[in-house]
Amino acid sequence: MSELPLPPARRQLGTSGIEASAIAWGMWRTTDGGFGTSDLAKLVHTALDAGIDLLDTADIYGFDGSDGFGDAEALFGEVLRAEPALRSRMVLASKGGIMPPLPYDQSRAYMDSALAASLSRLGVERIDLYQIHRPDILTHPQELASFLEDAVKSGKVGAIGVSNFTIHQIETLSSLLDTPLATTQPEISPLRVEPMENGETDQAIRLGLTTMAWSPLGGGRLMRPESEHDRIVARVLGEVAEAKGIDRAVAAYSWLMAHPAGIIPIVGSQNAERITEAASALTVTWTREEWYRVFTAARGAPLP
Ligand code: NAP
Repeated sequence: MSELPLPPARRQLGTSGIEASAIAWGMWRTTDGGFGTSDLAKLVHTALDAGIDLLDTADIYGFDGSDGFGDAEALFGEVLRAEPALRSRMVLASKGGIMPPLPYDQSRAYMDSALAASLSRLGVERIDLYQIHRPDILTHPQELASFLEDAVKSGKVGAIGVSNFTIHQIETLSSLLDTPLATTQPEISPLRVEPMENGETDQAIRLGLTTMAWSPLGGGRLMRPESEHDRIVARVLGEVAEAKGIDRAVAAYSWLMAHPAGIIPIVGSQNAERITEAASALTVTWTREEWYRVFTAARGAPLP
């Protein structure tokens, strides 16, 4: 049985000229467990030492429904202030555009202040990849495009991306930008494969966007299934993983990475051993038969 190509260890972020590891690490959950600066520093070192240098955060990470907006960035900023040499070892990605409790605001005035606040909390002069977290349907895309262009021109941002945008929203925003979007960040995992069939990954390929997959383990449900669908997908993925002699989480990451869109899974674990183990996904290949077995279980219906 022929093997699909091994993914490269490094990926280009769109046409921005920025290169990053083919696996990212996310900081959404860093404020969950009463983490201190040294705990986060340890995980940042773990990721970097494992060759994972694309680090993803957002201004809203830490927000618990009433408080905590900016806390994950602020904690990360403390790590960077304590050890400034870390900054040059990473591709720093953050996001803005959700203003709680009013859900979304991407007006020019708000985005200017959100970017300035992120830079200040992180204590950096530049965010390598700045992503619009979720679309604000009340902001005209021209207004958002102007903000993004100026953010790049000012040097405060290296490359721009979007997250959770529909195909049409990406198409429209792209048509108004001179600086191409570098990335898109939808939820993709063996528990959510719609982007592979609804045109999202095809659009990313067509526009030259690098796709970053959030919740690549379905937020942990691939390891602790909650529904019947979760259980079926976890079982099939587990069977293939066992035959390959790898962990189910590593199987999920490498399964995503085998897709031709060049998907970068964002590892969400806050456990050092699991972060290190995630990097082994770079060495895993899939046969078409194995890949489609997981895909068929994931979509819940046989392929025609
Ligand atoms: P995930 O990898 O799907 O889930 C991580 C969760 O799975 C953690 O709670 C982890 O717990 C748990 N887990 C259990 N067993 C595990 C194992 N064997 N290996 C690894 N993890 C295991 O990812 P996620 O945290 O939901 O999301 C990843 C990143 O995506 C976030 O950090 C963020 O950067 C990004 N994100 C973006 C959006 C967006 O709207 N753009 C939304 C959500 C997330 P332990 O920590 O104990 O390992």
